[in-house]
Amino acid sequence: MIARQTNIYLILMSFSLIILQGCVKNEKESIIESELQEYFDSFSEEAQIRGVDIQFDAIEIAAYIENIERQGTLGQCMTYSDGSKEVIIDENYWSRISNSEKEFLVFHELGHCVLGREHLDESDNRGNCISIMQSGEGGCRANFRRQNRAEYLDELFEYSND
Ligand SMILES: [Zn+2]
Repeated sequence: MIARQTNIYLILMSFSLIILQGCVKNEKESIIESELQEYFDSFSEEAQIRGVDIQFDAIEIAAYIENIERQGTLGQCMTYSDGSKEVIIDENYWSRISNSEKEFLVFHELGHCVLGREHLDESDNRGNCISIMQSGEGGCRANFRRQNRAEYLDELFEYSND
């Protein structure tokens, strides 16, 4: 059952990291849409537990739930030339996923936008992705669930690019 679910999940899941160099930001206020706020709060709490200090007040970041036209893209993190960040979550996908899947998606995008992480499709010996930063484009099997959440969060916050 899990395998079948994760297969569907894999097909649905395709994230993208877009870096817009020299692009002019559109005229939106830097706000975090209320439905996303609890996931932002939980992100900074989980970071804090692991010794990573994230103050969203100190980062210029906006987050919206809206229609993403590009097929298969469920979330985006954009970095503008002035250093400000924008997270966009696909409205249609958001409306039909569980809280756990919502957390996964927001944490993945914040992994890009806030932690500066890139995709990581490494798998364990059973073929499961070891990181929330999986691309969703193959290479490993999506396996984020309550039982292994803590492990995934450890990896997310404790990973170092050095
Ligand atoms: Zn991504």
